[in-house]
Amino acid sequence: MSDVSVRPASGVAFDAEAEVLIIGAGAAGLVAALAAREAGAEPVVIERDTVPRGSTALSAGLVPAAGTRWQRAASVDDDPDRFAADIVRKTRSRADPTVLALATQGAADALHWLADRHGLPFVFADDVVYPGHSVRRMHSLPSRSGVELVDRLRTAVEAADVPILTEAAAHTLFLANDGRTIAGVALARPNGAEERIACRALVLACNGYGGNRALVRRHLPELADALWFGHDGNRGEAVLWGEALGAELRHLSGHQGHGNVAHPHGILITWTTIMLGGIQVNALGERFSDETEGYSEQAARVLAQPGGFAWTVFDERIAQAARAFADYRAAEAAGAILRADTLEALEAMLHLPPGRLAATLAACRGRDRFGRDWSVTSPLVPPYCAVRVTGALFHTQGGLAIALDGRVLHRDGGVFPNLFAAGGAAVGVSGPDASGYISGNGLLTAIVLGRIAGRAAAGVRRGVGTHAR
Ligand SMILES: Cc1cc2nc3c(=O)[nH]c(=O)nc-3n(C[C@H](O)[C@H](O)[C@H](O)COP(=O)(O)OP(=O)(O)OC[C@H]3O[C@@H](n4cnc5c(N)ncnc54)[C@H](O)[C@@H]3O)c2cc1C
Repeated sequence: MSDVSVRPASGVAFDAEAEVLIIGAGAAGLVAALAAREAGAEPVVIERDTVPRGSTALSAGLVPAAGTRWQRAASVDDDPDRFAADIVRKTRSRADPTVLALATQGAADALHWLADRHGLPFVFADDVVYPGHSVRRMHSLPSRSGVELVDRLRTAVEAADVPILTEAAAHTLFLANDGRTIAGVALARPNGAEERIACRALVLACNGYGGNRALVRRHLPELADALWFGHDGNRGEAVLWGEALGAELRHLSGHQGHGNVAHPHGILITWTTIMLGGIQVNALGERFSDETEGYSEQAARVLAQPGGFAWTVFDERIAQAARAFADYRAAEAAGAILRADTLEALEAMLHLPPGRLAATLAACRGRDRFGRDWSVTSPLVPPYCAVRVTGALFHTQGGLAIALDGRVLHRDGGVFPNLFAAGGAAVGVSGPDASGYISGNGLLTAIVLGRIAGRAAAGVRRGVGTHAR
């Protein structure tokens, strides 16, 4: 990759010009493109990969939103205030207040808009209350896959006649003399050629830094050895450009981990295995946490166990529910899920001390010593299942601080007049550590902030970007 940098625009010759330039064609960038187009601008999206994918394609495609028509049809009583209260509780009031308000208030409207204007057939994921949420509020496309989400968004962007320049890796931002206006971007083509595109407004939608080991070591030392489960293209340019520009960066240690990735298979095991009554034990057959607090913080806890792994133990009833997820079926097909008719046989299979698993399960009643409430789930019954898992980093949640219209804030006060951030490039709503993440916080800010940034970027008055250099 060419060096990521910020350089003066003075004297730079540009090859082309875009009204709204968007870096990244994941959910945030594609939604920003749709919003900018609808607001009357002619956006251009640039994407490093040959086909837009991003972490969006790796996700389960589950998006939380409060007060949707799909919830109403399922008789779920919910509203943005309740959604915000859930995030406030999980983050212990440490979520970025601007993004919290934008995301919780804008989510239902954004999903209705994508469904009605752009034909995305959202359905309600009403099978389970996801960790951290007080009601069922997840929505997805029918396949429950992020691939369908990014593909349908790309189709909508193409239908709106927005060009997506693929195999175009942005590496340099050009800064006008005022020190705050972005005049354009330089990008590298696979053959090494450089192209420079001037812009009236720039939207950073290139996600976070989870794929950049040096930044992970700096901001998330507890996950320095964790499996990276996100997209390779999440290399931290937004953070690096932000530092060079003097932008305000917040909650860089915030992230989504996952403590349930089949190891060594590298396949995500749905957290349904835990929420329906499963447990995690270490190599000694002992539990080490209240697993229901959330899969995100569980990543570092699993990595801290002997050997850096744990066994997720559940039963056939739970396996049946987990089979709704393609990943789980893939894990079964790969032989990652072990089965036994008795606890003794399972202990032998997992090389646990005899009787230890039985004792551990016998202690799962009432409210246990970790605080887990066992009155809400049924005890495990034969046949039993188990999968060896480790902790992984899924995506980072810290990033550029933004104003209500998605403009990036300067650390000395005020905003950058034509620079916007959305999705993983912007600070999220999870606060400064893994424990603040609740399911869906990633796509939530990709979709809602993408829409806000695209719309506002389209409104940047002519001359702010292109004539200020
Ligand atoms: C396994 C997994 C499961 C997940 N499940 C969920 C879920 O169910 N619900 C949820 O809410 N969140 C989930 N997440 C998180 C979610 O996927 C992300 O938060 C979300 O996709 C971020 O969207 P984005 O558009 O910001 O980034 P991305 O989708 O990563 O898109 C960024 C794009 O920018 C491109 N890019 C980067 N740098 C450059 C550059 N310099 N020049 C050009 N292009 C560039 C990349 O190639 C990429 O295509 C999951 C994440 C993982 C890894």
